[in-house]
Amino acid sequence: MPKTVRFYTLGCKVNQYDSEAMLEAFLVSGYSLAPHQAPADVYVVNTCTVTGTGDQKSMQAARRFKRQNPNGELVLAGCLAQRVGDKLRETGARLIIGTQYRGKVVALLEQAIEQQTQLVAVDSLSSVPFEPLTIHAHAGHTRAVMKIQEGCDCRCTYCIIPSVRGSVRSKPVAQVRAEAQALADAGFTELVLTGIHLTSYGKDLGNVTLADAIQAVHAVEGVMRIRLGSLEPAAITQPFVNALKDLPKLCPQFHLALQSGSDTVLARMKRRYNTTQFREAAERISAAWPLAAFTTDVIVGFPGETEVEFAQTMAFCAEIGFMRLHVFPFSPREGTPAAEMDGQISQSVKETRVHALIQVGESLAALYYQRLLGTVQPVLVEECLAEHEWRGYTPQYVQVICRGSTAEKIVPVRLTAIDKEGMSGDIVEPYQQKG
Ligand code: SF4
Repeated sequence: MPKTVRFYTLGCKVNQYDSEAMLEAFLVSGYSLAPHQAPADVYVVNTCTVTGTGDQKSMQAARRFKRQNPNGELVLAGCLAQRVGDKLRETGARLIIGTQYRGKVVALLEQAIEQQTQLVAVDSLSSVPFEPLTIHAHAGHTRAVMKIQEGCDCRCTYCIIPSVRGSVRSKPVAQVRAEAQALADAGFTELVLTGIHLTSYGKDLGNVTLADAIQAVHAVEGVMRIRLGSLEPAAITQPFVNALKDLPKLCPQFHLALQSGSDTVLARMKRRYNTTQFREAAERISAAWPLAAFTTDVIVGFPGETEVEFAQTMAFCAEIGFMRLHVFPFSPREGTPAAEMDGQISQSVKETRVHALIQVGESLAALYYQRLLGTVQPVLVEECLAEHEWRGYTPQYVQVICRGSTAEKIVPVRLTAIDKEGMSGDIVEPYQQKG
């Protein structure tokens, strides 16, 4: 019987990609995915350490799987494993690999099993090359995530990521194009380009930029949509926008990580822009894509954040008119400057501010949907909910419930209503299937 494997992935799209690549390594080595709920022979937990919650959930998953099958082999990968390495031996993990050697996960695991030992393959990340992982599928997904960049050279004062992901490394453009072609051939019409600091793509490849990678994927037959991961506001220059604005496959949804709408807080975070520069970046994008949707991340309760600074964040988010706000309470990360800063905010104040900003986010989403009401938008159909009822997403990443019958992957839908999760509408003739 082929041995079975189960994956549990925490954190960001980059971790999802790394898990997909490791899964493919197991599948080509003769393993199969463990049936749902059934104990597995091997458990892989791809950990996250971006917040304290990431650590806790990673450890809970490791302990849960060890309880589910005490004889099962446990592999701990990802950012928490990279940060604490040896300390995770107490979980009983057979293999701890961190954010390297994912391509060798099966060989390292089988080596450790053969030697009946625990193997901790966590090394420093200084001057390591881009690990050439490739995926050919993204099981159970309509869109495929492509990691084209790794690491970060910035030093935001609250962030632990550079220490667990290393410096900027990029996948060469030719490999990006080849992977996109393989995914398009596998039936993925929408590709999401992601990285730890995506806008740094190419910095280590000489005269290469993110726009080059996007244009390379845009030229791939079968790719119908390209979505971008989180972008650095400071990198949204006019030349960057000019290089992309005539690419019809590029989805006009831009995740510009704001983090705070207060210039004094941004300065304490050591972010590389202020609200004026952020506003200008958003205006450049809106000029090129009038119905562009902005999504973002905001940290509330950063050390020293006053009521005035928080009010500035609320007001700035409303001014930009984000379609979606991802709101996070500040989580002090050991080893980061912000964890040592004076003026740490109480948990209750953080919760109050998170709640208040989430409410702002909900009203901003409704305001954005208003702008799409009555328009016809191409919807990538993902799921059939009932006869003649489908769920999918617009290029702006608005969830749409649409009515009508069709066999097309992408259909034009006239958006007629706003609901809690998004919008709804009718598939426009002649895309309606006859009879
Ligand atoms: S840009 Fe800042 S927040 Fe993002 S990974 Fe780099 S250091 Fe962390």
